[in-house]
Amino acid sequence: MEQLFFAKLNKIIIYYLTYKNMANGPRKDFLSWNDTFMLMAQLIAQRSKEPSTQTGAVVVDERNVVLGMGYNGFPRGIEADELPWGKEQDSWVYTKYPYTVHAERNAIYNSNKSVEGGKVYCTLFPCNECAKTIIQNGIKELIYMDDKYINEEYSVAAKKLFDLAGVRYKKYVPSKKMLISDNDEK
Ligand code: ZN
Repeated sequence: MEQLFFAKLNKIIIYYLTYKNMANGPRKDFLSWNDTFMLMAQLIAQRSKEPSTQTGAVVVDERNVVLGMGYNGFPRGIEADELPWGKEQDSWVYTKYPYTVHAERNAIYNSNKSVEGGKVYCTLFPCNECAKTIIQNGIKELIYMDDKYINEEYSVAAKKLFDLAGVRYKKYVPSKKMLISDNDEK
């Protein structure tokens, strides 16, 4: 009789402890790494002074430690009002194109150590010039959000470079409702 009582009590204690542990368990709806880094890329994009397209990028290592962040803009030391931001002018020299540094390259330039073997999160699929920089710096994976220029020649060339160099790329799929809206061209 006594044995049965203690056996039952033991069951109750185990049940209670299990329940208690479950109640004190970890939060379940935390941000995934993918969502976290893409949100960070979107956030840093808001630093951009570019009037039409604000892009951001975050480079992380294989342990998901952030190495660098960047957004599109002029090189260091050049003020935002010292060069043009236009797209179509009589001469290329009067457009933004010769002067802006793209977000993914700035993220690499801003990295606090080697990005070899890392991943890059980009709000926009990279151009061929950035693709070359990504490859040459040893980044092995790209996660991009927006691919609206995917059929442009520079994107086709970028894909070709990534394929040949063995850099994996995939479109970002949010697992959470995004907190910041995307940076569609205005
Ligand atoms: Zn680029």
